[in-house]
Amino acid sequence: MKSTQLKDLESFLKTKRNIVIVTHWTPDGDAMGSSLGLYNFLIQLKHRVTVITPNDYPQFLFWLPGNKKVLVFSEKTGQVKKAVAKADLIFCLDFNSLKRIDKLGDEVAVSKAKKMIIDHHLQPDGFADFMLHDVGSSSTAQLVYELICALNLKKLINKAVANCLYTGIMTDTGSFRFPSTSAKTLRIAADLVEAGASNSEAYNNVYDNNSGDRVKLLGYCLGEKLKIFPEYKTAMISLSAEELTRYNYQKGDTEGVINYGLSIRGIRFAAFFADRDDMIKVSFRSKGSFDVNKFARMHFEGGGHANAAGGMSKLTLDQTIDKFLALLPAYTKQLNSAK
Ligand code: 5GP
Ligand code: MN
Repeated sequence: MKSTQLKDLESFLKTKRNIVIVTHWTPDGDAMGSSLGLYNFLIQLKHRVTVITPNDYPQFLFWLPGNKKVLVFSEKTGQVKKAVAKADLIFCLDFNSLKRIDKLGDEVAVSKAKKMIIDHHLQPDGFADFMLHDVGSSSTAQLVYELICALNLKKLINKAVANCLYTGIMTDTGSFRFPSTSAKTLRIAADLVEAGASNSEAYNNVYDNNSGDRVKLLGYCLGEKLKIFPEYKTAMISLSAEELTRYNYQKGDTEGVINYGLSIRGIRFAAFFADRDDMIKVSFRSKGSFDVNKFARMHFEGGGHANAAGGMSKLTLDQTIDKFLALLPAYTKQLNSAK
């Protein structure tokens, strides 16, 4: 972040403000961890702070301090519109294009509030007054920690802030195993533990919090639905609406399933397709140089990071899979040379 911007932000925050924090569609651990971490920090400065999500999110994130205060746009539309209209400052966390917050983007776009993006995804749209953007960062939660430190307010990282930010970092780094986990990330995690975050509580709340149906759905995906294409170093799993219903699908239940494809020796590219409501949700992961952000942008109206991206399709599930399979031959060389 430019030092002039930091100074401007610092002086803007000297006055009590109406602040809105918005995060992306179907929020994940980093989206909620960074948003609630920032919330728990800002309320100590006596600002009036509202956290807004475009739609709902997995139950395994409900334990995060401040969760009860979150307004879900699809459920509290009137209240959210009012809060956005009244805002002096809107923080946009863990996304960088208004498309990622769906209809809530229309409210944010017309708001007179100053806007600040804090994000680590590729290719940001330039709609903000303040920008803390670093694609090299493990997570948005890490950037929020760095912002708090840059404002010289590290002393305000209490247990609530620490637990939220730690959870954002833990989930976006795959529990500190992805290459985005730097020495700095680990130092920040240690700082957060010192400030009161509980690493084992965070892990248990997020990962050892499954329903029986969720574990059975995972078993079904691995036993019946995993397809491997060795010639493309690719693995794929898909789930129809009927299959999701059969296992009593709840939001978040399929998170992480895609990583099993990538755990197979020699596999460089994993895809996951799920028939959700009015579209097919698509997820991609890769190892090494195969760029799934580009692939998702080019073919599935999506984006994300080089090794983790998502998108959508308005075709049927079968047509979406056919489209995906028809694309693979053109990538044979890239997939086979991907280091
Ligand atoms: P997931 O596959 O877990 O939904 O998402 C993987 C990564 O891609 C996340 O960083 C997420 O923010 C991003 N992502 C997921 N879906 C979309 C999408 O539809 N558009 C864009 N631009 N990014 C997405
Ligand atoms: Mn993130």
